[in-house]
Amino acid sequence: SLPTIYVITPTYARLVQKAELTRLLHTFLHVPQLHWVVVEDSPSPTQLVRNFLAVSGLTYTHLHMLTPKDRKLQEGDPHWLKPRGAEQRNEGLRWLREKAAAAGGKGLGFESAVIYFADDDNTYSLQLFEEMRYTKKVSVWPVGLVGAMKFERPVVENGKVVRFHTGWRPNRPFPIDMAGFAVSLNLVLANPEAWFDGNAEMGFLESSFLQNMVTMEELEPKADMCTKVLVWHTRTEKPKMKREEALIKQGLGSDPNVEV
Ligand code: UDP
Ligand code: MN
Repeated sequence: SLPTIYVITPTYARLVQKAELTRLLHTFLHVPQLHWVVVEDSPSPTQLVRNFLAVSGLTYTHLHMLTPKDRKLQEGDPHWLKPRGAEQRNEGLRWLREKAAAAGGKGLGFESAVIYFADDDNTYSLQLFEEMRYTKKVSVWPVGLVGAMKFERPVVENGKVVRFHTGWRPNRPFPIDMAGFAVSLNLVLANPEAWFDGNAEMGFLESSFLQNMVTMEELEPKADMCTKVLVWHTRTEKPKMKREEALIKQGLGSDPNVEV
């Protein structure tokens, strides 16, 4: 049978949340043997996400982990000030390790499973999932529309990653976006100390997780030797609520019982 892809998605309540999750779901429904691990940044699971997942038709696990207040981006902060989603990805990793331990490494496809961290606002090609499915340790590929560039990517020579095409601090241990790699579950189980560092300096969150697990030489280049863009770091515009607020003042706001 196909190796399972565990997709870990941090998500938080905001006006576009259901739209983002719907777009993701409709991609993931086309991917065989995918298990969606949705981790809400909230003190408890929300009704919106619970109901959404219940009728999704996907195999999923619904978790939550609130980002501590001092680590959370405040309104008005520049978006790069603090890493986002670190605690939620760690909660997904904790759940996977716990599940693997309980299964004793047998019978649940853990031998060959792969983990991918999929933010809720990016855009994913179906082909990406087949590229990552047979990851031995860590596979890598280009990410489009990221880092104020058309794309970033590992540069491959003779089948090996030799450096990274990036506009910024190329000497970071792994200058790759969260969307640009997948890891085998086995590698994560063999490295119980591998976590995302929620206090990592800007641009070092991915490195904090990868740097003690794998070397650049060991990276497995996918997507035609990193020549194809199969994932885009899209970011969704915050919807304007000017008219809504004006209407609320007149008692004519949109019906709050309608879920958006
Ligand atoms: N996220 C979260 N809590 C937050 C902010 C973001 O769980 O307070 C999630 C978000 O839903 C996304 C991931 O963390 O899945 C990365 O956040 P974002 O897309 O805003 O980061 P960027 O695109 O700026 O790298
Ligand atoms: Mn994003």
